[in-house]
Amino acid sequence: MLKLRIYILVFLLIFGLLPLSLAVLINLPLVLDRTALFYQRAYLQNLRADFRDLDQHLASRHELIRFLAKLPEPGLLLGAHGDLEQIDIARARYTTWINQILSDQRDVIQILFTDAQGQARFWLVRDARTQEWRPLPQPVQLSNHHFIEATIRAQAGGVMVSPIRLDPRRGRDDPRQFMTLDLASPLGSERNHSKTGAVVLTIDVGGLAQSYPHTLWVNQEGRYLRPGEPVEAQPNAFRVFPGLESIFAEGKLALWKGEGGRQMLWVPMFMTEDGSPLWVGRIVDPSPLDAFRNELMLRVLSIIALLFMAVMVLARWIAARVEQFGHELLGGVRRILSEGQPLQFSWSGPRELQELGEQLTTLAATHAEHLQAVRAHTHELEQSNRYKSQFLANVSHELRTPLNSILLLSKMLSAEGSGLSPAQRRQAQVIHEAGRDLCDMIDNILDISRIEAGQLALNIEPVELCPLLEDLIELFSPQLADKPVELILRLDPNLPDLIETDRDKLRQILKNFLSNAIKFTERGEVRLEASLFPGMPKPLVLSVIDTGIGIPRDKQEIIFEAFRQADGSTRRRYGGTGLGLAISRELANLLGGVIEVESTPGTGSCFALWLPLVPSASASALPSTAMPPGNDQAPEPLDSDGTCLPLALASERDAPWALVIERDVKTLVTLTSALSQAGMGVQTAADFDEASETLREEGQGCALVLAAAQLLPEQPAAAIQHLPLVLLVEAEDNRQISVMGMWVLSKPIDPIALELLLGQVWQRLGNRRKSIPERGTDES
Ligand code: ADP
Repeated sequence: MLKLRIYILVFLLIFGLLPLSLAVLINLPLVLDRTALFYQRAYLQNLRADFRDLDQHLASRHELIRFLAKLPEPGLLLGAHGDLEQIDIARARYTTWINQILSDQRDVIQILFTDAQGQARFWLVRDARTQEWRPLPQPVQLSNHHFIEATIRAQAGGVMVSPIRLDPRRGRDDPRQFMTLDLASPLGSERNHSKTGAVVLTIDVGGLAQSYPHTLWVNQEGRYLRPGEPVEAQPNAFRVFPGLESIFAEGKLALWKGEGGRQMLWVPMFMTEDGSPLWVGRIVDPSPLDAFRNELMLRVLSIIALLFMAVMVLARWIAARVEQFGHELLGGVRRILSEGQPLQFSWSGPRELQELGEQLTTLAATHAEHLQAVRAHTHELEQSNRYKSQFLANVSHELRTPLNSILLLSKMLSAEGSGLSPAQRRQAQVIHEAGRDLCDMIDNILDISRIEAGQLALNIEPVELCPLLEDLIELFSPQLADKPVELILRLDPNLPDLIETDRDKLRQILKNFLSNAIKFTERGEVRLEASLFPGMPKPLVLSVIDTGIGIPRDKQEIIFEAFRQADGSTRRRYGGTGLGLAISRELANLLGGVIEVESTPGTGSCFALWLPLVPSASASALPSTAMPPGNDQAPEPLDSDGTCLPLALASERDAPWALVIERDVKTLVTLTSALSQAGMGVQTAADFDEASETLREEGQGCALVLAAAQLLPEQPAAAIQHLPLVLLVEAEDNRQISVMGMWVLSKPIDPIALELLLGQVWQRLGNRRKSIPERGTDES
């Protein structure tokens, strides 16, 4: 998963930096091109400025020619009628004068005067070696006739400039003649308008051009023109500068670009006599432009890099803020939810954030208040539930003691030989059965209150499954004697021999299923089935299937609630309390199992218990010692009005009493009445387990235990071992038992023998009988 920082970075890059960089990168070449163009223009202007010197130079020559037009050679002034000798003398003087005034202007190489018809009349030529002006027999250069005629026709004072004349042949002898230009001006004054001829100055342009270094002169055919050198036969420039030919064909100023960044600016500078331009080429130094381009690129790239770094820092900062905000929010919410503490969210920043913080603070405070109220309420509920469970346990126990007596006596009275008439014995039997139902109900109530109070102990051990199921069938078979209902056991051959579970709890669940099935089935069959589904989390299924009245679908869930039955008439017709399935479901949960029901009214029902072969840790974590007597978890005893009493105070009320462990009714009745007469309370138990339980529940008042010898286990519980024990033996066992060194009372009990024995017991225990009533007070 990408970090938040990366997400923000990518977002900022895509929507911020990328468009900016693209805009820069797209426009940068354009900027560079334009810059190059401006640079070249500036360069061209420079070049033009260079050639402006040449223009100015030519302008100064214009002045010179105007001056000579006003002072023409004397032959012209004197005219055709002048004395020849005089003319020669005057011309000699004129030559001297010219030598004086034109000694420095070395580019002027010839002065020619014509008459009004354009015929050369007088000419002076500068000597190439001595630089002296002297007349020659022939003029070196003769201008174009039309040019001279046009000059003669021109206005006085005007200057005509001829195209450049290239004369490589003559230039070979005299380099000054290689590239020349004629300036011409008409002779005669403006006032009389009479045209007397023209003066023509020949100027050595080649010599001038030599003073411009790094400049190439090339004619339209691509031949180099170098003063003093012959014109090359081949158009070399086109070979040296590939592509130059097309530039020349265009006839316009252009930049030539070659390999390695070489650049050259070509300008059609002058018109030559033949009408084609004379090209001037100059090397363009691209280094300033390159330097500019490099610097620009460097700047742009560093700006982008800086922006990227700024974006990274920004993304980091935003991510840190968001993460911090998220942590605070999450941590705060978690603390509110887990600890229920009111929290303060004081965020600085935008108004919305502050408002959110305020609202969360209010929410936290409200939640904390509610949570506190709920906790207080839950505590109250738990406490009242504990009181209820304790109350139920107490009441059940209180009910069971007199009920035991009722059961015993009614059983005794209904037995044959009790001395009652058959009708009275039947009534006693009815009392006995009603009492047993009541006892069952009390047991159920005790069970459910213990389960609810979390006090039910589990005893997980290896249990042989098949014998357990067979026992159950045997137990219930007699109940079907007078019904056309068959009781069937069906076992899966793959069943394991042993499973780990609590034997009693499992039996209790199956007993409930079976007794319900038998109760609600008038004919057909009741089937107990055990199957194994390997691979399932709860692979063992124990089901009880009947062909009874069935349960409507909408009642199939509520029958698992305590005191709920399928309908109101059930209790009238079939009896029961509606507690069995509630207890069964709780027990199944404890064993790590689950109960499912399927039923069709009128057809039958199937109650299935799904069990693991080994209970999960949570079930086995409740060992049978989980609820020892006096355990901290045990509810505190309740007073009759339901208020809680400390244990010490409760035991203070206990009077000394005797515990009788016996199943024989006759013996029980005799012992109860005899012990009562001896001033002792009596508690009874059907076996040693129940006896331990009674001792645990009743506290410390027990002074004596009387137990049937055949019920004595090999290792009685510690609580019983520490108490004086009287064994109740059948007469014939008398001798054997006495060997064990205990008090022994043989059955049937003789009240006198009992009294004697009690006397012995008290004596042996240091006259404990008298101290016992005070003991509770002493200990308190
Ligand atoms: P009780 O049997 O004491 O009434 P239970 O909790 O065991 O209490 O059962 C609750 C109710 O579920 C019964 O009253 C009965 O209406 C219904 N019930 C349970 N088992 C069966 C069954 N096999 N066939 C029809 N109804 C049943």
